[in-house]
Amino acid sequence: MKQFDCIIIGAGTAGLTAAVYAQRAGLKTVVLEGGIYGGQITNTPDVENYPAIDKISGFEFAMNMYNQAVKFGTVVEMESVTKVELEGDVKKAYTASEEYCAKTLIIANGAKRRKLGCPGEEELSGKGVSYCATCDGAFFKGKAVVIVGGGNTALEDAIYLASICNKVHVVHRRDEFRASSVIVESLKAQKNIEIHYDSVTESINGENKVESVTLKNVKTNETETIEVSGVFVAVGLVPDNEMYAPVKLDKTGYIIAGEDCKTNIDGVYAAGDTRTKTLRQLVTAAADGAVAANEAANYIRM
Ligand code: NAP
Repeated sequence: MKQFDCIIIGAGTAGLTAAVYAQRAGLKTVVLEGGIYGGQITNTPDVENYPAIDKISGFEFAMNMYNQAVKFGTVVEMESVTKVELEGDVKKAYTASEEYCAKTLIIANGAKRRKLGCPGEEELSGKGVSYCATCDGAFFKGKAVVIVGGGNTALEDAIYLASICNKVHVVHRRDEFRASSVIVESLKAQKNIEIHYDSVTESINGENKVESVTLKNVKTNETETIEVSGVFVAVGLVPDNEMYAPVKLDKTGYIIAGEDCKTNIDGVYAAGDTRTKTLRQLVTAAADGAVAANEAANYIRM
């Protein structure tokens, strides 16, 4: 069993910021990450709304956070947590090969990408259906693709894809985008982007790879099939918190925690996209990381 003062689950913006603050507060800290460090931000081509940084790629941002956390002495283990024990004075996190224990635990596991749930999505996943434009966009150089969604992620991805692909179809279920107006304006300025408002994806079609997409206009009920090689799904995030019971969740699955990041269990905190909050942004994830680590340090000192 490996012993620490603070276990952080998730090496995204909230988790790595928490690690910097926890280490600097004198807590021996481990971050456990089952995927790649950086979290959601690694899927973002460019970050332009983080204070004092004019523009930086999501990948570089993630790398800087990781290096900074490690510089202060954080141990980062690339292992998936399969089970936790959160009640009592010692919090435990289990991975396939190790058991970690600590006086405090910060859940900073973010949220996972929502699926569309239409025919063809599952079967053609990895064969033209993707959930990460920055990871997979280059495979579609000079081709036509669809991106589904109307939030910041979908529109930023569409703008990025427009610089690589010959044609980008944006499919949104309403006639108004959810994304920030500055991003909407930038999208509309792209010559090779076609917007399909009030439209949903009926099916993704193809034998062994994506060949076309069938869309339905929800106002007219008319359908159309457009030939594309790729489909990027960016329809938001869903939490993944069942494992943390008896930590209380709201009805949509987010961990109930306020601005102090405290959960209903002493010594257990929730930071970033995983908790109930109104604004899920890099800057609020970073702020949560700092707050959660500070609360953890205070709890240990009590
Ligand atoms: P989001 O803001 O929740 O947007 C999800 C989009 O997908 C919405 O337009 C939604 O439509 C649509 N949608 C949801 N379920 C759908 C379904 N089943 N079928 C079709 N469309 C569906 O998610 P996000 O864009 O991934 O962003 C997540 C968070 O990160 C947000 O808080 C966002 O602001 C933030 N973010 C910020 C930036 C930035 O500041 N530059 C960049 C990326 C992400 P409706 O609009 O009709 O609900």
